[in-house]
Amino acid sequence: MNPTRRAFFKIGAGGVISSILGFDLKPAYAQSAGLKISRTTETRSTCPYWSVSCGVIIHTLGDKAKNVTPQVVHVEGDPDHPINRGTLCPKGSSLHQDILNERRLTKPQVRRPGSDHWEDISWDQAIDEIGRLVKKTRDDTFVEKDAQGRTVNRCEGIAWNGGCTDTNEFNYLVVKTMRSLGVCYLENQARV
Ligand code: SF4
Repeated sequence: MNPTRRAFFKIGAGGVISSILGFDLKPAYAQSAGLKISRTTETRSTCPYWSVSCGVIIHTLGDKAKNVTPQVVHVEGDPDHPINRGTLCPKGSSLHQDILNERRLTKPQVRRPGSDHWEDISWDQAIDEIGRLVKKTRDDTFVEKDAQGRTVNRCEGIAWNGGCTDTNEFNYLVVKTMRSLGVCYLENQARV
């Protein structure tokens, strides 16, 4: 047998190999596919990459005992989700590698002015520094009246850009907070 590339994908690698070797591998493939998620907990979530917001199911292994660290073992499209109906693009299909990635950032980092590297800081330190810099920037750039003498009360030195994983509730708080500071440059992903 000399399968073409098209036939290879059409039959599937398992089908071609079993045809070449003369026995049927389908039961073994079916069993291994089932085993992968047979003992997992399913969590429905949303792909974080952008505003299509495809639904995903995250499969986590672990019996929820306190001394067990749950482990994500598989992510797939949610067949019941009205947006993607089980499909995922290549980026969404790689979510498993995004979650289990040793290069994933799990703590705040800062690059100081003039520095050529990022340094880890604690969450408390990050919140403290952000609060202090927001106040300083607002104090330095707040505009009470425009060139025609009209009251505008706006902060022109801060901008907010939201990501696609921001929920409606989060963005509601963002808008309230930023508007209360007088921030005009406010942008979110397409869904809000
Ligand atoms: S699966 Fe792909 S298309 Fe869907 S939200 Fe994620 S990145 Fe966007």
